[in-house]
Formats: sequence, structure tokens, C-alpha cells
Amino acid sequence: MMPRTNHAQPTISGLLANDLASDEKARLFGGLEAFVNGDDTAANYHALASKWPRFWPHPIDDGGTPNGLNWSPHAQALFLDYRDKLRKVWEGDSEARLSSVLAYLLGIIRIDELMSGEYVLDVDAAWFGRELDATYRAWQSLKQSHSQATMEPRSMAFPLWRLGSLTYLPRTDFEKALWLLCQENWRARVCGRCKRYFIADKAAQRYCSTRCYGEAKRGQRLAWWNKAGKIKRIQRKFVRSRQGRTEARRQKSRVRGSR
Ligand SMILES: [Zn+2]
Repeated sequence: MMPRTNHAQPTISGLLANDLASDEKARLFGGLEAFVNGDDTAANYHALASKWPRFWPHPIDDGGTPNGLNWSPHAQALFLDYRDKLRKVWEGDSEARLSSVLAYLLGIIRIDELMSGEYVLDVDAAWFGRELDATYRAWQSLKQSHSQATMEPRSMAFPLWRLGSLTYLPRTDFEKALWLLCQENWRARVCGRCKRYFIADKAAQRYCSTRCYGEAKRGQRLAWWNKAGKIKRIQRKFVRSRQGRTEARRQKSRVRGSR
């Protein structure tokens, strides 16, 4: 039998945004939004851990226990480092998108490979140094209490012979969601009103919610009214001073006429 020539798209489920059921995609994007908007508090960290257990970015082994340190209280610094790096990618920071930071977030390279600084296309050295330092400190804060901690082997970028392309095989919901967002990267937005990170449904969407949209519109109207009011006040002042001058001239001529 002749080998079949295959021009079809890869069919490994869960990889392509268009192949994913809409409710699963909404769930993944919901988790990613919760992750990127997480604050610095322990309470928020615990809430994320209980609501999104499969969103820990890259599995951490605790000396032989797989996933033993995912969402551990001792791994909060690592979460904050992931979150901050994700925010930079989200905001369109070209250094974050072009350096190995994105590859690290997707789990394509491991933490030690990020640290070696070899997996880099073109990046500002000072910027990259700060990122490496932040990740190093976060990892060390976990190692202090768990010296046996290791990050499990990476996700795979797998070559497909028939398609002549690479296929990415994510392990966690975080990696899956971020990969989906890479494919629809125009949707990664920061709200023009409350500065919340959100995933837009439409290209023109600038606000995270109808509430922020409404508040922004009210703010614009108020600014317009204030501006319009200022112009009116200037006009009134001008008219009054002109009327004043005319009245003064009239009185002067009246005085002259009565002499
Ligand atoms: Zn908003």
C-alpha cells in the first residue's frame, strides 16, 4: 500500500483552539484570568489552589512524591514569579514574548534551562538578568524548606513527520490555557478602567465588564460636561464684560447729553 499523503491539521485533541469545546475553552480561560489577576496575599493563593488545583503551572516533585509541592504554601513565591512573568507576556512586553520567558511558562524549557540563559533569541541583557534573578529567588525560597524539590521534566514540543511541524503537548491546565491564548493572542487585554487582565471576546473590547464600560462612558461624559461647562463660563464672562462695556458707554453718552 502506498503511504498516504496527509495535509490535514494535527488531530491531537486539546491542542488547537478551534478544536476545543467552547465550555472547556471558557473554563481554561477562566482559570488563566484568575491566575494572572491573583494578588500577593496568602488568602488569594489558597483560594486559587482550592478552586484551580490543576492550574499549577509545572509539576513539582517533593523528593519522590509527584506533584507533592504544587500549590504548597512554601511555593507561593514561585506562583508570584509565574504570575508576574505571565503579566508581562499579557501586556505585550516584547522582551517577555521573545525571550525564553514564554517558553518557560509553557514548560518547553525547565527552570535550570531558563537559568542557563542559553535558550534566548534576542533580549535585553539587563531585563533578562532581572527575570532570572526573580525566578532564582522564588525557587530558592521553596528549596529552603524542601531541599528535595525538583521540577518535573518539561512538556513536549513534538515533531510530526507527516505534517512537517511541531506539536506542543501541554501537561497542565495552565500550559493548555496559555497555549490557547498564544493562538488567539489578540484577546489578551488589560481593562482600560480597572486595569484587570482579561480575555476579550471582540476585537474592539477595551473594558473587562459592562460595569467598567459603563463607568468609563460616564467618566467620559462627565469630562465632556466639565469641558463644555468651562467653555460656557468663559463665553458668559466674555458676554458680561462686553455688556458691561456697552452699558458704561451708554451711561457716559447719557451724562454728556444731560449737560
Ligand atoms: Zn475593568
